[in-house]
Amino acid sequence: MKTLAEAVMTAKRRLAEAGLADAAFEARYLIGGLLGLSNTEVFTGGERLLTLAETAKIFDAIERRVRHEPVHRIIGARDFHGLTLKLSKETLEPRPDTETLVEALLPHAQKIAAQKGAVRLLDMGTGTGAIALALAKALPQLTAVGSDISRNALDTATANAHLNGIADRFSTRESRWFDTIEGCFDIIVSNPPYIRSDVIPELQPDVRDFDPLVALDGGPDGLDAYRDIAAGARAFLEPGGLIGLEIGYDQKETVAAIFEQQGFTLVDAVRDYGGNDRVLLLRDVAQ
Ligand code: GLN
Repeated sequence: MKTLAEAVMTAKRRLAEAGLADAAFEARYLIGGLLGLSNTEVFTGGERLLTLAETAKIFDAIERRVRHEPVHRIIGARDFHGLTLKLSKETLEPRPDTETLVEALLPHAQKIAAQKGAVRLLDMGTGTGAIALALAKALPQLTAVGSDISRNALDTATANAHLNGIADRFSTRESRWFDTIEGCFDIIVSNPPYIRSDVIPELQPDVRDFDPLVALDGGPDGLDAYRDIAAGARAFLEPGGLIGLEIGYDQKETVAAIFEQQGFTLVDAVRDYGGNDRVLLLRDVAQ
């Protein structure tokens, strides 16, 4: 393997042999990501000679992909709502579906910014910081706290805040849900673990074997995290404050009911790019 074009050919063949769909696209995407080249540069730069170190890195990456490690974990970063986010073993890989939650919250956050001049947001189980950082990037008046049970995830989120130029408006808190949270927020947002424990073994290996279990496993009925959040939220929300949640495709009614029991009312339910219910916005209506 000497040139970029040869590396792409080798990768494509190996990935196809291993039964991966879209082997040609994945080969280009993976190698481009590793070498910091765009898809176009991979296409047009086929003559480029690779160093031994680059070749070794590409071989290693191909074998990791053959074992179903997701492409972005191998590259170590992915794009989310216009940000580049580093990933680590203890962070869920941000999904395009979660951009739906960012988009749904943005007009509400803009309205609060117009009324009050500043918006305080808490992102629980922040992981890479994706949701908090995307909203902070889009809205200069927004300041966010990202909380997580994993210290390692918080380090990753902090690195991502620096990487995207928003470190001055993002801080972190190590916490299991509200356990160590202090202060009051205009918006509380979360993409909590929501998969039923018994379904975890049936997930695709790319998810099951590489996303952190703690970010996926929502307990026996998948709803444990929502119950914790619903029970604690009022004490940390401004009057009339907003909650934004990512949910499983079949959880709209059950999650809404959990929050309604605690005095919240459903403001909006939004579907993801695939047409599944994915986001709930709820407001605190109790006096
Ligand atoms: N959307 C993720 C998946 O289907 C689950 C993320 C979560 O539990 N919050 O793999």
